[in-house]
Amino acid sequence: MSFSSLALDKSLTDAVKALGYDQPTPIQLQAIPAILANKDIMAGAQTGTGKTAAFALPILQRLGENIPASRPIRALILTPTRELAQQVYKSFVSYAENTELNIAVAYGGVSIKPQIEAIEKGADILIATPGRLLDHIVNGSVLLIHLETIVFDEADRMLDMGFKDEIDRILNRLPPKRQTLLFSATFDDAIFKLSKTLLNEPELIEV
Ligand code: AMP
Repeated sequence: MSFSSLALDKSLTDAVKALGYDQPTPIQLQAIPAILANKDIMAGAQTGTGKTAAFALPILQRLGENIPASRPIRALILTPTRELAQQVYKSFVSYAENTELNIAVAYGGVSIKPQIEAIEKGADILIATPGRLLDHIVNGSVLLIHLETIVFDEADRMLDMGFKDEIDRILNRLPPKRQTLLFSATFDDAIFKLSKTLLNEPELIEV
């Protein structure tokens, strides 16, 4: 199976080819069509499986089809750590190279001001850690009412790190009608409980 069989725009397949990706990984083969079809997914995937491109490519494809002039945040990727936020941001930027989409990143431990400036320029996609995202929500620099898709990346680590309260507060700010994608390396009772409150008839993907 090739990337061209996945119904992705040439702008995206060219970008992954330039990165040296010859063919999609198993998680990409399963997740990309489901995400393009607007399904919720619950995916078991370790780092190194290609999980970032599995959600980034279909999100870029869908958002790139119609970019509103007001440029609200339409996709949010939540990560447990700033290192993962930086890594996911870099991946999005490289996959989006041939598109018009804007991507911003927000994490704690650094000044909030440059992040606000980047978001105010019109970020279609925001990658964020939970605590800093809440800072942005409280001070009004992030509004999530136009959100279409939210991704929980490494959801198990987010719960292990004690972000359940932050997650609940963020969920209160989201439109109820949205696509939710949950990625986790492990599945225990806490993840299943979270998935029940988050996901609507999810497609289960295990690689
Ligand atoms: P991830 O699991 O998202 O952390 O990705 C692990 C590594 O695999 C990253 O360095 C990606 O650039 C790379 N990668 C992702 N998808 C592919 C692919 N289809 N072919 C080759 N490398 C890939």
